[in-house]
Amino acid sequence: NKEMLLVPGPTPVVDEIYEALASETMGHTDPRFAGIFKNGLELTKKLFNTDGEVFVIAGSGTLAMEMAIINTVAPGEKLLVVSHGYFGDRFIPLAKVFGIQVETLQAEWGQQISKELVAEKLAEGGFKAVTVTHVDTSTGVMANVEELVPVVKKAGALFILDGVCASAAMEEDMQKTYGNPDYKIDVVLTGSQKAIGVPPGLGIVAFGPKALAAREAMPSVMGYYTDIKNWLPVMNEPVKYFATPPVNMIVAFNKGMELVMAEGLETRYRRHSVLGRAVRGALKVYGMKPLAAEEVAAPTLSCILYPEGLNDAEFRSKLAAKGVIVAGALAALAGKAFRIGHMGNATEEMFVKALQIVGETLQEMGYEANIDAAVDEFKGIYHSA
Ligand code: PMP
Repeated sequence: NKEMLLVPGPTPVVDEIYEALASETMGHTDPRFAGIFKNGLELTKKLFNTDGEVFVIAGSGTLAMEMAIINTVAPGEKLLVVSHGYFGDRFIPLAKVFGIQVETLQAEWGQQISKELVAEKLAEGGFKAVTVTHVDTSTGVMANVEELVPVVKKAGALFILDGVCASAAMEEDMQKTYGNPDYKIDVVLTGSQKAIGVPPGLGIVAFGPKALAAREAMPSVMGYYTDIKNWLPVMNEPVKYFATPPVNMIVAFNKGMELVMAEGLETRYRRHSVLGRAVRGALKVYGMKPLAAEEVAAPTLSCILYPEGLNDAEFRSKLAAKGVIVAGALAALAGKAFRIGHMGNATEEMFVKALQIVGETLQEMGYEANIDAAVDEFKGIYHSA
């Protein structure tokens, strides 16, 4: 009886991926491994539909954030951080460490930054790049990529998208144009452990042609392991060596990407969209309120406010004892809300069971909860599309 890991990453891992992870470790320049690595990289290129380059490196999402920044923005240059919460904010200290001039637009938690605000800020001029967090995992708010890309590109800045809590669940098409042939996403970064459904351990970054040109224009960058120029020969020809890749994680990642592609991206994006709505709809039946309004709420995770007086630690430990693992809220929301992931390999059956357990737990804690109604609401929305 497996636990239901419904934190917003890491997410449930299926047996095929565990089997890949447990395969006999190969040498990192073994042609058999190189073939698997190459396949994983090609699938990653397809995921982001990039005509640039992808990098899959041992590390986490934060490493991927760092690679995205240091390879595009030089010390002294200006970066605009568009933040919808805790993870958007992470770009601020990260960029400052490298002597980058950081300006910020921070949304009130639960709200979205408007394109007008971004346009107004960019009108100050001189911004090399803008970071946008596709889904901020602290708030469950998604950014309006469609509206922000034209604004950022019109200002001549690079568009850097943090897809850690979105990639493989939401469209991130780097050759899609947003109203003008030049208006495209330049960098997407992500990690292995969320909607891709592989254990944590890999940072993944895709650089489009303009982002690659930005790296070329800099004689050096503030990193060695994180310099994409050191990795490019390996990514183009994985029998080459720069630093030992995490062989088993790459084998597992390749399997995870095969599963993503076997489902099909369009199907997958639609599934996540209805799943998010269904989970929030069901929790509303229990009198719980999502932090984000439905129009800006993410397909991948939700931050859910507790009914008045409900004890966070007690609620989550009771759930955990029954095999449902959800996360606490961050910063000012700690104790007042919880976060539930609904992405990757998480299934309908898991959510039906988890919603029943949430209902039972609420009842045990003295709250009313109509379990049948919540499950019906979930199924109704999930099967509506
Ligand atoms: N960005 C977002 C949107 C995230 O959700 C996270 C992790 N929760 C990160 C960046 C950082 O990723 P990691 O924890 O893998 O370093």
